[in-house]
Amino acid sequence: MHILLVEDDMALASSLQQALKKQHYAVNITASGMAAVDTINTDTPDIVILDLGLPDMDGLEVMSRVRKGHPTLPVLVLTARDHLDDRIAGLDGGADDYLPKPFAMAELFARLRVLERRQTTAKTAKIVVGPITLDINHDSVEVNGRELDLPRQEYRLLKSLLENAGRVQTRNALEARLYSWGEEVASNALEVHIHHLRKKLGADLITTVRGVGYKIDAPAH
Ligand code: CA
Repeated sequence: MHILLVEDDMALASSLQQALKKQHYAVNITASGMAAVDTINTDTPDIVILDLGLPDMDGLEVMSRVRKGHPTLPVLVLTARDHLDDRIAGLDGGADDYLPKPFAMAELFARLRVLERRQTTAKTAKIVVGPITLDINHDSVEVNGRELDLPRQEYRLLKSLLENAGRVQTRNALEARLYSWGEEVASNALEVHIHHLRKKLGADLITTVRGVGYKIDAPAH
């Protein structure tokens, strides 16, 4: 699960990031509303944790800009405003849940699990493209019915390509996926992972779109 944390209090943001990473979430932080809107539009996370008091733009404004293009993206609003009116405005503005500061970490985790479950059941648990079946719930990949054990980075890249089958994924978006896990990534890492995936899955599966990125063709229905 890839979380975008929109929070301008950097001390809070980094302690939340540490705690969430321990729960096996990948976490990116943006400290402004504009950056949040851009990030959501270019590299859509699975869940957004959104502070309402941002330096450049109200969190509610961020939500209204994002909701048009991403009607089902789960948004958990996090804020010091604990007045009832603000809470109602947040929920009316399209938040899926609302957590007033200060909060207990355990409660945040529990609410994230609810959003995650809701999203997983909403999504198809399996993506099938040609001979490949990727099971989102079990993080497993089968090729022609035989299980394939992929390293994590390759699995994440394949998942991102399959989830967007038929559409080109830009190099930047794919690299952001790799970087967002906070691991060391070499400059040619993307090419290396794509090369390995082609060796394991067949040379034709992943198409290079020159100067742009990569794509997997959507299955013919
Ligand atoms: Ca704030």
